[in-house]
Amino acid sequence: MGEFELTFINQKSVKGQIITDWLADNPLNGGDLVDLDFPDECIYYIETRPPISECPWYTDIINYIMDHTYPEGATPQQRRRLRIIIAKYVIIEKVLYRKAFDGILLRCVDTKESKKILHESHSGMCGGHFGGHATTRKIHRMGYFWPTLEHDVVEFVRRCHKCQEFSHEIHMPAQALQPIATPWPFSTWGLDLIGKFSPSSTDGHNFIITATEYFTKWVEAMPLTTVPGSVIAKFILNQIICRYGVSANHYLR
Ligand SMILES: [Zn+2]
Repeated sequence: MGEFELTFINQKSVKGQIITDWLADNPLNGGDLVDLDFPDECIYYIETRPPISECPWYTDIINYIMDHTYPEGATPQQRRRLRIIIAKYVIIEKVLYRKAFDGILLRCVDTKESKKILHESHSGMCGGHFGGHATTRKIHRMGYFWPTLEHDVVEFVRRCHKCQEFSHEIHMPAQALQPIATPWPFSTWGLDLIGKFSPSSTDGHNFIITATEYFTKWVEAMPLTTVPGSVIAKFILNQIICRYGVSANHYLR
């Protein structure tokens, strides 16, 4: 034996070990066929159900509509609540829909698909980084539904990185609103610039500048094609100062 180098390898094959043990217990005569008639060969299919936490939110609704079965351990109050809820749902060609208040059928989606819809409708190809309520209405118009839709959308928009990066910053400090005092007529004017209108008027005007006197509510207005500073100054000179005198205050809104 000294001329052979023996190496011992641990047995890792459980199936091979079982066959080896079986052959050791049942020695064969020469020429006999091995009859591998194991007693558990009838086990050919094992069904595994996901845990309740991984089931879609509409599992109980589908089970009741299809088989009129309640979830295990449901109390009478929960069974009654389920019977009331399913009046809003309908299954068409194996797809569950929820009836909206306006009669439109909204397809019920699970958590995985809802996350994809959230991304696409807000920051994806179908989105424009709109706010929570606008995105919620958009998803409803697209025909999708899940129970926590509005809450999920608001939280998603709140966590959107681009919305945080490019949102408007309010630099004004918070303070109480102060009323504007108007002691006498034509002392205070408020200027408004309205537009740009599209399409423009027949004369090519796209804007309207208005001046409202705060005491009498008298209004002066003029259409504009463009809004350079010289045109605004000309309007104030000709329409306000030359006609009503120099006022104490001008507010440009
Ligand atoms: Zn966003």
